[in-house]
Amino acid sequence: MSAAVRSVAVVGGGPAGSVCALELSRLLPGTAVDLYDRDDEGPGAGIVMTHDFAERLKAVHPEALHVPESACASWDHTVTVIGGERIVSGAFGMSGLSRQVFRAHVRELAAARPNVRLIRQTVTELPSRADVVVLANGAGSGQRRTLRHRFGTATAAGRTRYLWLSTPTVVEPCFLLKDLGPGPLVVHAYPHGPAESTFIVEADPDTLNAHGLLDPPVAEVERRLAALFSAELAGAPLTARTNSWQAFRTVVNRRWFHERAVLVGDAAHTVHFSTGSGTALAIDDALCLARALAEHSDPGDAFAKYEAARRPVAEQAQAEARESTAWFEQLCRVGRLRGHQTVFALRSRRQANTFSRLRERDPEFVARTVAVLAGHATDAEPVDLPLTVGPLRLTHRLVRLDVDGSNCVLRGPDGTRAAGLVVDRTPSHLPAGVDFLAVPARPGPGRVTRSEAADRVRGSAAVPVALLVPQGLSRDEANTLIAAGRTDLVARS
Ligand SMILES: Cc1cc2nc3c(=O)[nH]c(=O)nc-3n(C[C@H](O)[C@H](O)[C@H](O)COP(=O)(O)OP(=O)(O)OC[C@H]3O[C@@H](n4cnc5c(N)ncnc54)[C@H](O)[C@@H]3O)c2cc1C
Repeated sequence: MSAAVRSVAVVGGGPAGSVCALELSRLLPGTAVDLYDRDDEGPGAGIVMTHDFAERLKAVHPEALHVPESACASWDHTVTVIGGERIVSGAFGMSGLSRQVFRAHVRELAAARPNVRLIRQTVTELPSRADVVVLANGAGSGQRRTLRHRFGTATAAGRTRYLWLSTPTVVEPCFLLKDLGPGPLVVHAYPHGPAESTFIVEADPDTLNAHGLLDPPVAEVERRLAALFSAELAGAPLTARTNSWQAFRTVVNRRWFHERAVLVGDAAHTVHFSTGSGTALAIDDALCLARALAEHSDPGDAFAKYEAARRPVAEQAQAEARESTAWFEQLCRVGRLRGHQTVFALRSRRQANTFSRLRERDPEFVARTVAVLAGHATDAEPVDLPLTVGPLRLTHRLVRLDVDGSNCVLRGPDGTRAAGLVVDRTPSHLPAGVDFLAVPARPGPGRVTRSEAADRVRGSAAVPVALLVPQGLSRDEANTLIAAGRTDLVARS
């Protein structure tokens, strides 16, 4: 049990700050905890939470998720609506929660503990008397900004813009892809209560501009979006929960603590909302930090232990979030919607969601995706679907290429040859005699980044595209990329 930490100031009463105060009061009942939160409730409608995370949180703080039924909803499938087509795929145990109700509930729970004092105040400087200052004041933390050279803070804004809205109706949990040209409007929507839903609209700024949605006052944007989505909303209105269109900001910090101050949650790291995991990460940080403070009498040791435990988790989540962001940015920029393949690509943007994993979890959806690719129902896997490449009739799509500079050759078993060109973008004129294009994979751990160029070329090429991976790919990974429509073939050299 810690002897030295007698007082902790927690700046920010969001999920990270409130859960940190709650856990500190459980583990260190003799420590005085001041929980500062400013008066405004901040942006946002609902958030999603996995059932797995909810169970883990309830195991430590059973009361943390006792929010009124009017502020939550659960579902077991998601629909993607592309144009007029509805494609159902599994969502595997998700809940929607009112962000405001959840945060108010956890903050009140913390404030009810005997050693926690809730102070409704905007903090401008580090509270002077506390042994430890926990900066849990979100992505825009002012104190972190002041100390940015100490923390090594870097922020990067995404290309797309989003508007976080709510609607007083229940929408089916869905992604809506509405192609307006030049790119689509992408909606992430789900209920967060029996009478209210979250509706996040994301798009490329050029698309918003082209449709006069970027600049008007927010009330006008609400009206126009509600009209565009009147069928999906059954005529219900939309209310913006952010001031205007926002670029998502990814925050990273090279160091998470400096002297008495330590970062948790969004103040330490942000992950794009399409991963639906920022709140869980923030709460897990808070629990970990409180436990480290309870175990170490020296705050510096506790901070080091906390950062060593949580940084790898946050970095992994941010790497996945970058891939997810990149996928949505490509979708919003290119606007190429290909029914089941696009939904498969959406589902497989997380590295863990390979063809075999998705088939195990959602066999019907995967069978339909392969049937669409093959043109008929089949038990064959994507790499075993036939493909015509120039004079060759291939019986499988994991192939070997002979590469010589920018030329390459694909040989059939009977000696027939197809001629290829190695490119990283679609040539303006396809030279005569070229049967396919081979696009080198980009270095990087994620499938979206690795196959980004191949996907782009495939969108505009008149011939099949091979993703060129010199060392080859596993059958499962090749199946995943082909089912997602990111390449026609996977080739090693
Ligand atoms: C569009 C969008 C959708 C999202 N959807 C999801 C989702 O579905 N699932 C999910 O898990 N996550 C989602 N997130 C992420 C999630 O909202 C955050 O990761 C989470 O809220 C982080 O919690 P936090 O406590 O670290 O910070 P915050 O929730 O930002 O809380 C910070 C708190 O600090 C207070 N504060 C700030 N400055 C001061 C100050 N100077 N003095 C006193 N108080 C201060 C604020 O008022 C606030 O209460 C989404 C984010 C966005 C932008």
